[in-house]
Amino acid sequence: METDNRGGMSKTLTIVSHPLIQHKLTILRDKHTPTAQFRQVLREIAFVLGCEATKDLALGEKKIETPLERLSAPYLEGKKLCFVSILRAGNGLLDGLLDLIPSARVGHVGMYRDHETLQAHRYYFKTPDKLGERLVIMVDPMLATGNTAIAAAEELKEAGARDLKFLCLVAAPEGVEKFSAAHPDIPIITAALDRELNDVGYILPGLGDAGDRIYGTKG
Ligand code: URA
Repeated sequence: METDNRGGMSKTLTIVSHPLIQHKLTILRDKHTPTAQFRQVLREIAFVLGCEATKDLALGEKKIETPLERLSAPYLEGKKLCFVSILRAGNGLLDGLLDLIPSARVGHVGMYRDHETLQAHRYYFKTPDKLGERLVIMVDPMLATGNTAIAAAEELKEAGARDLKFLCLVAAPEGVEKFSAAHPDIPIITAALDRELNDVGYILPGLGDAGDRIYGTKG
């Protein structure tokens, strides 16, 4: 899969530029895309982004028999996975990721953004145990100011997570900068690095409010 690791901006940022992802992202950006299609395409794009986020999972070998002969074949061993949805928009990415890895555990972190200060506050936190033994992939479609993702990662580290990644759909340069400064150990995987934030913390050109687009809660 074609990826772009922007060393200058952040050593931890990977932009996945596969044509299917870029095509699907255009559908998501289009304000005329209806809610049902938005949800479906988000699920599809999450599946592909999930492949990139899990590309370094450790493989073991086991002996199997095909109908024709014996062989030693690769299989996944090692760390278990946990997807953590940052509510509520993160849930839009979960179904596609669970299509990819049905056995993954799922956690939820609820952070709300104070619209005046843009600071994140926790209102919900539920994760599986033994987070320290899992690869924990935090998911939120939008990395905007970075405040929510930074706070969620802090909560997860406090709960024991040691091996974390952050998967998003669209990132703003300001958010990438801030998140990477706060959590230089957490790789960011995204489909796009957009131009900038506007003065109320929305990404430009972006796709609007991801939660509203997923759930049809505006207009
Ligand atoms: N959250 C969103 O849903 N959209 C943005 O553009 C920024 C934050």
